[in-house]
Amino acid sequence: MLELDKVHAGYGATTILHDVSLNVDEGEVVTIVGANGAGKTTTLRTISGLVTPTSGRIVFDGEDITKLTAHEIVDLGITLIPEGRQLFPDMTVRENLMMGAYRSGARAYQADALDEVLTLFPRVKERLSQKANSLSGGEQQMVAIARGLMARPRLLMFDEPSLGLAPIIVAQVFEVIATIVETGATVLIVEQNVFHTLKAADRGYVLENGEVVLSDHAAALLDNSHVRKAYLGI
Ligand code: ATP
Repeated sequence: MLELDKVHAGYGATTILHDVSLNVDEGEVVTIVGANGAGKTTTLRTISGLVTPTSGRIVFDGEDITKLTAHEIVDLGITLIPEGRQLFPDMTVRENLMMGAYRSGARAYQADALDEVLTLFPRVKERLSQKANSLSGGEQQMVAIARGLMARPRLLMFDEPSLGLAPIIVAQVFEVIATIVETGATVLIVEQNVFHTLKAADRGYVLENGEVVLSDHAAALLDNSHVRKAYLGI
């Protein structure tokens, strides 16, 4: 469904991603794990069209999207749930959710999408008329995920969904992701919380200094001695 082939990308003259190749098949949950600054966010921003590769190719559903704009990429059905939630703080939860349905054609199914999303997130339903900035961090993350689903994406990308959340809330966020996966979604997650994300994923890539140094089934990565030592502290 998604394929990155030898992608180089960065900011100005600084190259962050070196020769990154990876793929995500339809219905899979794939994760990119790595330390702070490894280039995980840059990878998602590059797929989203917010950073343009200097070389290499990105293909989605057989279409070369390497040079498309962020807007065009959203329209193809790729949605990024950004690090730090990035909700509109002074807008209500309902208004924030509606902002998720801006993908072209999405307005036609806005009401149905809202019903579906609220069924999945009963806690969000209770908070619809509250301002986003009055919610707890965990609730804000649920709203950010719900907003991403409003576009009915074909590929849903999560940037550090567990960042800044208490362990019990992290577990809830991963439960919600598992529920979304059960609906047949295709998911790409980048995380520093290596244990949780490998437990939730089918396959994973380990990114170090902008390079893929390991890729395997998630269970095999959990058993890998480098991963255990460098990321799990075992
Ligand atoms: P984190 O968990 O901290 O977000 P990450 O693996 O997602 O880490 P990136 O955010 O992709 O890493 O950052 C990779 C490198 O790119 C870092 O050295 C960072 O300083 C640099 N970088 C990120 N954004 C920019 C930017 N807008 N301009 C210049 N350099 C940037």
